[in-house]
Amino acid sequence: MIKDIVKDEEFLKQPSEPATLDDLDVMQDLIDTMKSMGDNCACLAANQIGALKNIIVYEFNSKLYVMFNPVIKQGIVPYKATEGCMSLEYDTESRRYKRITVEYDSLENGQLVKRTRKLSDWNAQIVQHAIDHCNGILV
Ligand SMILES: [Zn+2]
Repeated sequence: MIKDIVKDEEFLKQPSEPATLDDLDVMQDLIDTMKSMGDNCACLAANQIGALKNIIVYEFNSKLYVMFNPVIKQGIVPYKATEGCMSLEYDTESRRYKRITVEYDSLENGQLVKRTRKLSDWNAQIVQHAIDHCNGILV
């Protein structure tokens, strides 16, 4: 179901809870909402659609990727980035890493499986932004 994007900063500052297989409806809403926004939106976290669960979705090459409970295990080559956000009216500046290693739970055959993914450049940046949302950080 397509949801409205939450812009209430007090709500968005709350850290999200671990996501489980009980949260597949949240994941589906996140995917539906992301698809409805087209090119405007590169990544979205579940709290941006009103669910305080650690789920993010991001787009790369017109394909959507979902991560449950993503955690950055390693980041290298820090830099300063200026970013826009679907939930905020203003751009923000934040410290990002060019290359990151993310550990997350992947939905595979109806189960959550621990996976690790290495990301760089744009993909790394948008995933760091979405993980910040999960932690209640508005960059
Ligand atoms: Zn954002």
